[in-house]
Amino acid sequence: MEDERDKGKRVNALVVDEDEEIRRSLMERLQEAGYFTDVAPNGKEAIDKVKEFFYNVAVVEVELPDMTGLEFLKVIKSIHPDTSVIFITGNPSLDNSVDALNAGANAYMMKPLKIEEMMEHISDALSRQRAVIETRELLFAERKKREFYQYLSIIDGLTDLYNHRHFHELLTQEVARAVRYEHPLSLLMIDIDAFKRFNDSFGHPAGDKALQDIARLFRENCRRVDYICRYGGEEFAVITPETSGKNAVHLARRLVSKVREMKIPIYESTVEERLTISLGLAGYPTDANTKNDLIIKADKYLLEAKKAGKDCFFPPSP
Ligand code: GH3
Ligand code: MG
Ligand code: MG
Repeated sequence: MEDERDKGKRVNALVVDEDEEIRRSLMERLQEAGYFTDVAPNGKEAIDKVKEFFYNVAVVEVELPDMTGLEFLKVIKSIHPDTSVIFITGNPSLDNSVDALNAGANAYMMKPLKIEEMMEHISDALSRQRAVIETRELLFAERKKREFYQYLSIIDGLTDLYNHRHFHELLTQEVARAVRYEHPLSLLMIDIDAFKRFNDSFGHPAGDKALQDIARLFRENCRRVDYICRYGGEEFAVITPETSGKNAVHLARRLVSKVREMKIPIYESTVEERLTISLGLAGYPTDANTKNDLIIKADKYLLEAKKAGKDCFFPPSP
């Protein structure tokens, strides 16, 4: 649950002790130190508070009326692992103190409390906590930055499809996998027809938008496991793992006809244009046995589709 205390830099403290006098005196001292302080007389009420807010520090009596301090510590750490816990006790025992520290408590203090010593423990715990949180945030930001640069290195900026370089990496990997497991694989090479004329008629921004629209259409009509790439300019490649040439024909037919049916809106105009694509389709192992031969074959077939009048795929039924 959201609370003002979660948002700012303010330190939140919680005191859990059955003894009202202890609760009052600790609360006064913690408030004096500028900490926003809540109190609870037992484990249950304390857990209710912990579920609602993040407490930077909890000062907890080892023996609570409804549970042990250790049990409470496990609950609080499971909800907020960063919360620092300081145990206090009127019944100190070596076993208890070792267990508490092993379970992640920051300090174990005997009653009657030396309050200034406790404030020092709290201050130490808070500095350590800040360092841990800052380091984690820094690592998280670094990871995000790395992921972002990695994304940029494989994705085409205009269409959000895989770029030319990554296409080659993917095809190398997928052909190796197909050879290794003796599975089929198909490669579709696609070229937009008369795209130069489209650009010349409507301008490059409209051409860019058309490339994005066609890329989206490809995404909508391929399987999630297919790799859709922008090979270059107005050329695309689709790698379909686990798909024989015979089955990839269905995809080829669908892509060609979907593009043909697609209305391409033109910027600041009521005109809607049409575009078509030509497609060459080669499969492993029927057409080629290596990555390069697969590309050469698919390219050759693409040329055949152009020669056959464009707006079609080749070979029609391999
Ligand atoms: P064909 O039917 O034989 O494929 O003819 P075409 O005009 O499509 O082929 P050509 O290779 O002559 O021209 C490709 C055009 O694609 C030229 C270029 O202006 C356009 N193009 C390539 N990349 C982009 C791009 O990123 N944005 C835009 N708007 N146009 C591009
Ligand atoms: Mg071209
Ligand atoms: Mg073209």
